[in-house]
Amino acid sequence: MIPLRQSLGAPAEACVTVGDDVKVGQRIGEPGGFVSVPVHASISGKVAAVGRFPHPGGGEDTAIVIEGDGLDEWHESIKPHDDVGSLTADEIRKITLDAGIAGLGGAAFPTHVKLSPPESKPIDTVILNGAECEPWLTADHRLMLERPGDVLRGMKLLMKAVGADRGIVGVESNKPDAVAALRAAIHDGANITVTAVQVKYPQGAEKQLIDALLRRQVPSGGLPMDVGVVVQNIGTAYAVYEACYLGRPLMRRILTLTGSPVARPSNFMARIGTLLSSLIEQAGGLKTDIGKMISGGPMMGIAQFTTDVPVVKGMSGILFLARGEVNERQPDPCLRCGACVHVCPMKLVPVMLEKLVIHERIEQAVEIGLNDCIECGSCSYVCPSKRRLIHYFKYGKLLAAQKSAAPTK
Ligand code: SF4
Ligand code: SF4
Repeated sequence: MIPLRQSLGAPAEACVTVGDDVKVGQRIGEPGGFVSVPVHASISGKVAAVGRFPHPGGGEDTAIVIEGDGLDEWHESIKPHDDVGSLTADEIRKITLDAGIAGLGGAAFPTHVKLSPPESKPIDTVILNGAECEPWLTADHRLMLERPGDVLRGMKLLMKAVGADRGIVGVESNKPDAVAALRAAIHDGANITVTAVQVKYPQGAEKQLIDALLRRQVPSGGLPMDVGVVVQNIGTAYAVYEACYLGRPLMRRILTLTGSPVARPSNFMARIGTLLSSLIEQAGGLKTDIGKMISGGPMMGIAQFTTDVPVVKGMSGILFLARGEVNERQPDPCLRCGACVHVCPMKLVPVMLEKLVIHERIEQAVEIGLNDCIECGSCSYVCPSKRRLIHYFKYGKLLAAQKSAAPTK
């Protein structure tokens, strides 16, 4: 079941109908705009349905269901590129778009858009984010260990696409084997370094990683390109390698299936569209009743309500928590203890933001930094009253976006 919404921006538009035969790697959805990516078949077979199905992002969304024929036949358009070294920046961007690559770290921002900064924002450094700072998730760690050379080949292409002459891979220092594997794979003259950064949450957030590696601060409301940087995820670099070298679109990704109820916690190279129920079976099933199922990590992930949702491009992992591990306590009144202020990596005042959003004073919330919130969840985590701060911030941002999109009278 392959959803058409797999990136930020507009969902793709189906270009196949029920009854069509499809092959692996064939395009089945066209991008719905510039900020959008195409989607591709991850198995060969027949299109059985195009309709509304559960989506891991919440609710239902349009998806294409393919009934597999078990042949795994590749589409004729999938061919390796002969001379990758001669690809121009424009060609790399075009291949990235055609391959439907969206950030694999979780945000699923279309990669070709990130690789198209305006001329007024020259990029000197590409940072590869190997921090993987959310507890439980190990998918990027595995990829760095098992495919370090291919990850770096993808990184070189990303550097070329934005004209950056320097690359830095940032890896948390609790993964010394990954640091060693990547360093061993660097070729002479590549101008890529691998830096071990402090283990601290949320080290893997873009702004925090840029600060840790380069001591550059992205301004409020700004983007990494404002300080000459593009940040990409480890999995994204690997997807760019597969697209540019092997000619393969993004139709599979590595993800972690973990948590105490899982019989054999594992990382899977899963095809996009695989149902979670099938991965659970591959991991030996669930040993205990689950209290919560989360797509992503425990801090920033999204709760899931069914295992009948498919793997999507932005899904870095699925975490299962047993009943006793889930906080079911109702929030208490705020104690004004200031703990949330103390931990906020963006130097915001979460207690104040929450109050403004509850009273729908959104403009004031934006004035004091609502949109700078990176939704790391640190404030909710430390709050002794277990206030659902991050839920209010997500809601508040949605209201702010709706207000700014509304036509002015
Ligand atoms: S989620 Fe909380 S701690 Fe994290 S950036 Fe937002 S306000 Fe700050
Ligand atoms: S941590 Fe919780 S209780 Fe303390 S000030 Fe923040 S919202 Fe209030």
